[in-house]
Amino acid sequence: MSENLSRNELIEAIKNTRKSFDTDNPTIPFIEGDGIGVDIWPASQKVFDAAVSKAYSNNRRINWLEVLAGQKAYDFTSEWLPEATLDSFDEYGIGIKGPLTTPVGGGIRSINVSIRQKLDLYVCLRPIRWFQGVETPTKNPGDVNISLFRENTEDVYAGKELEMNSEQVKKLNNFLKSEFSWDIREDSGIGIKPISKTASERLIRSALNYAVENNKKNVAIVHKGNIMKFTEGAFRAWGYDLVKNEFSDVAVSWEDCNGQPGDKILVQDVIADAFLQQILIKPQEFEVIATTNLNGDYASDALAAQIGGIGISPGGNINYENGKSVFEATHGTAPKYAGHNKANPGSLILSGEMMFRYMGWNEAAELIIKSMEKSIFEGNVTYDLARGRNDATTLSTEDFAKSLVENIEGF
Ligand code: NAD
Repeated sequence: MSENLSRNELIEAIKNTRKSFDTDNPTIPFIEGDGIGVDIWPASQKVFDAAVSKAYSNNRRINWLEVLAGQKAYDFTSEWLPEATLDSFDEYGIGIKGPLTTPVGGGIRSINVSIRQKLDLYVCLRPIRWFQGVETPTKNPGDVNISLFRENTEDVYAGKELEMNSEQVKKLNNFLKSEFSWDIREDSGIGIKPISKTASERLIRSALNYAVENNKKNVAIVHKGNIMKFTEGAFRAWGYDLVKNEFSDVAVSWEDCNGQPGDKILVQDVIADAFLQQILIKPQEFEVIATTNLNGDYASDALAAQIGGIGISPGGNINYENGKSVFEATHGTAPKYAGHNKANPGSLILSGEMMFRYMGWNEAAELIIKSMEKSIFEGNVTYDLARGRNDATTLSTEDFAKSLVENIEGF
């Protein structure tokens, strides 16, 4: 499939993806995850199965297929990310994963980054909302309801970095000096930050399309284009061009409507540092964000902290053009709690909720959200969410999942 679909082609591709999950018995590959993966995966799977069974009266069922990555893969196969795992995600077009240990000093920089890059999952989607009852460091966490689209394949994550004093860095430095008269200190490491029109357009197109589909009225392009003009600044410019060329019937930029969009989606841009202030001061003004990889990394963690939860922030890595996707817990392996039946499975469970919604299994997704809202509101939570609440009962990982399953069965 072409790398650069138009808006209409993209909508068609998304519809076809949904159709491909229109089976009652899909196979979904999963990676259990390292560290607390042994606790949170089995708990999450019970919640997923309960939601599907309740929503579809046992007419639908997921065939869970375990695939290996991380420490478990290394122990069994001496590889951190076996080709067979990528092949399964590729074949079934979908997957879900727990957290993975980043090997130190191995041949692979990060397994997560490798999965995203090898499957070309160009969107990292992070929905960020508050659950009533969660303690937060901010006053009005209920004002946060943001879907953040982070570019997932390039920027400084492209891994184009050379080490200080290496032969390659000397060669590059000499080239930059002779060809561009760029004077870079000799004792520098050098990294390259590629931002392409292709990758920027497909990311921003996905965000705009999501806004249209979900009836959102506000899209912000977040960038640092005042300093990095030909990378981040270009990201902004390509975004505005896209609005004009492909979305003019449904969206308009601030400049073109003087802040009066009428019925259309208002698209504006915000410089990344100002954005980090504004999400604290007036988060209710943001609905959908489209941003580059590194900005997205910082902003999504800042927003997750704002709503009180590393343990409950989900994520999805998606290629909307070919439909492939891998959903994932956004926290790490929390090795201190591994095997203690203590960690919060919420991030993985909500990643499953995103996955069901992506598949068009909205009824199952809805049950998961409602059950999570109920348990958290009633104070039936794991240790991390019980902290700072005097009305909460601290549950184990397993018991938290049981409480969600009971809610689901009772709805
Ligand atoms: P971490 O997310 O594992 O832990 C940070 C803090 O959050 C710790 O205090 C931890 O106990 C707590 N925490 C994390 N998840 C929790 C949960 N579900 N419930 C309750 N508390 C939770 O981050 P780290 O310590 O920087 O990294 C540990 C390992 O995880 C490293 O190998 C790192 O590379 C890896 N990592 C993986 C991912 C991923 O797979 N997506 C993301 C981040 C880090």
